[in-house]
Amino acid sequence: MFARLAIVLALSVPVLVLQAQPRPRKIFISVDMEGITGVVQPAQLGPDGFEYQRAREWMTGEVNAAIAGIRAAGAADILVCDSHGNGQSLLIDKVPEDVRIVRGFPRPLEMMQGIDDSFAAAVFIGYHASEWTANAVRGHTISSARLLGVRLNGMEVSEGIYNAALAGQFGVPVAFVSGDRLAVAQIQQIAPSAEGAIVKEPYGYHSANTVTPARGQAMIRDGLTRAMAKLGSLQPYRVTTPVALEVGFKLTIDAERAAFIPGLARSDAHNVKGTFRDMTEVTKLLQVLTSLELP
Ligand SMILES: [Zn+2]
Repeated sequence: MFARLAIVLALSVPVLVLQAQPRPRKIFISVDMEGITGVVQPAQLGPDGFEYQRAREWMTGEVNAAIAGIRAAGAADILVCDSHGNGQSLLIDKVPEDVRIVRGFPRPLEMMQGIDDSFAAAVFIGYHASEWTANAVRGHTISSARLLGVRLNGMEVSEGIYNAALAGQFGVPVAFVSGDRLAVAQIQQIAPSAEGAIVKEPYGYHSANTVTPARGQAMIRDGLTRAMAKLGSLQPYRVTTPVALEVGFKLTIDAERAAFIPGLARSDAHNVKGTFRDMTEVTKLLQVLTSLELP
């Protein structure tokens, strides 16, 4: 009798433990720099800029605010994808020690490296609007130096929309975006339920009316807590496959060379187009196209 009871207890206790401690949800954070509070010019955007080291602190502060907001709504495993410039802008020793960080380029999924179908949501911090958005702070798509815009199935996309489509391939919805007003509005066109924090009112490519870093971080923390409350109702953004890709180049010689790649053909002097299996394939191709040596 006692022996049988002991067996029953031994079998049931681990089951109870599992039920009491569900696996923490997984949240993917992709962080860029042009849409961080206070950032308006190259002075903040790269190692040669006089204010880059400060901008790294603001960026790290916004990522940590996002993590705090996510965790205020419940336990979460978090992967941060450092996605600006050299992929090494985040001050990793200032991030909570149980967070993992993706650093450095190149990598197959670029600004979304590490995303897979185990994540509950994607979060975009410091994002900016697209190449064809007038008066947005640092509006460009993937490469401000090389590209003249990217179209997916005929629609001009921002990096945010592009990365939402990449996350959508894995069934992961976008829960939150921060950046200037135009960047946030552009994402919310395809992810209307995503929460946003508008940390800057843009005046143009190199000027904005910005909140302070402390205020921006508070907005992001609160926004993430709101976003986590509606996780169950968010829908992934899925583009139809195969994906019709059109890429514009600032230099016509870049379009000329891109059209040498099997599957791509010239649509006009600046543009090439082709149809590819899915967003993963398109993402790898775009990285090769933007890393061609300058003619
Ligand atoms: Zn960037």
